[in-house]
Amino acid sequence: MVSEYIENVIQRVIQRDPHQPEFQQAVREVLTTLDPVIKEHPEFEEHGILERIVEPDRVIMFRVPWTDDQGRVHVNRGFRVQFNNAIGPYKGGLRFHPSVNLSIIKFLGFEQIFKNSLTGIPMGGGKGGSDFDPKGKSDAEVMRFCQSFMTELYRHIGANIDVPAGDIGVGGREIGFLFGTWKKITKSWEGVLTGKGYGWGGSLGRPEATGFGLVYFLEEMLHANGEDIKGKTVLISGSGNVAQYAARKVMDLGGKVLTLSDSNGTVYIKDGLTEEMWEFVMELKNVRRGRIKELAEKFDGVEYYPDEKPWKFKADIALPSATQNEINGKDAEMLVKNGVIAVAEGANMPSTLEAIDLYLKNDILYGPAKAANAGGVAVSGLEMSQNAQFTSWSFEEVDRKLRNIMKNIFQESAKAAEEYGHPKNYLMGANIAGFLKVARAMIDQGVV
Ligand code: NDP
Repeated sequence: MVSEYIENVIQRVIQRDPHQPEFQQAVREVLTTLDPVIKEHPEFEEHGILERIVEPDRVIMFRVPWTDDQGRVHVNRGFRVQFNNAIGPYKGGLRFHPSVNLSIIKFLGFEQIFKNSLTGIPMGGGKGGSDFDPKGKSDAEVMRFCQSFMTELYRHIGANIDVPAGDIGVGGREIGFLFGTWKKITKSWEGVLTGKGYGWGGSLGRPEATGFGLVYFLEEMLHANGEDIKGKTVLISGSGNVAQYAARKVMDLGGKVLTLSDSNGTVYIKDGLTEEMWEFVMELKNVRRGRIKELAEKFDGVEYYPDEKPWKFKADIALPSATQNEINGKDAEMLVKNGVIAVAEGANMPSTLEAIDLYLKNDILYGPAKAANAGGVAVSGLEMSQNAQFTSWSFEEVDRKLRNIMKNIFQESAKAAEEYGHPKNYLMGANIAGFLKVARAMIDQGVV
């Protein structure tokens, strides 16, 4: 049983936002693990920290009108949730996907507060996006949409205010169009977005950061428990930015990638992803923007399973890297039955609360998203530092810093879990370590 204070805050969120299930889920996931901290530190209740931390500083919603190549008018909805800036400017990605709504953006922004805190870089939490679907749109349509989106968003962001980045549906192309419009409206050049192209303020190593960081975290978690990636079989979901570079790093470290997927289905690669297949996926997804089933059409030993997820295949490790709630209780049961030893989350909140419960009960090593996928925002933080100093670091330097950050995140999470009486519960450890810094800053800054 969690303390009455925590349960009351959760109930109030449910009453206030009854139509925001993803946000409620994220709040419950974080707050219930903070129980030992709340019991040990009565000052957090005295200062109303939990009531304040679940309420965004502000929510911005706006109309995004644009015209398609035939001249037809479309209207999408834009969002930016500036959740908490106790420890630094708001920071968090933009997601363009038809499923985007306020609940999804709020859950992502809420999680981002603790993730950013864990990186050790001074960044607050925020998130934004739109229900626009970039799939099937021409470059010109995507550009017009991004221009319209930024025509409103520019008022609310700035290098010391709020610095958006990419997420699902927002990659280098979209960041370029968004940055161009921001620059034109404000007649200013500053690091107001991250994930920029190398040569115009982008950091080397940013595209790789989330996927590489995920596997660095996994490596730390395995080593701390007497295991190693070498020789292990790995299920990866998704085939976008995070999945691509997670696959790359698993291969580099001697693991075998058995699956990739997209929203239409899963490919199973009997003998593991090869160099040639990886290059094919990079071109397929980033240049031609095609479907993952083409991998099976092109290569022998690859089977395509339409409308299926990767979790039924037998493997040692699972790296969900597509979207929220992609592993439910049934999927988790399958992972347990098949003897998975570790799950590390590339995507945000890919596991339902039921799935997480099963990992913990079955002693599966579990690297929660806010720790395991923090590499992306960490290198975004490094991009902000480079922009502020008018400098750029080599790929090796960025990668070395990323590896250190992921190592620290793992160690801090492990230490907090141990200190609060739940050794190896990295979910609890990450939530506690991320929360403490923000909560203490909020107390120092008064009731605002
Ligand atoms: P991309 O848009 O590059 O790729 C997303 C991938 O997930 C695609 O393969 C996509 O398939 C699949 N996908 C998206 N929505 C669904 C869905 N509803 N059902 C099944 N598959 C789906 O995004 P990213 O790789 O950047 O992001 C993936 C996850 O990682 C997200 O949860 C994101 O929040 C998280 N993340 C990303 C970071 C980053 O730096 N990019 C940082 C931290 C977390 P399809 O092509 O068919 O849509």
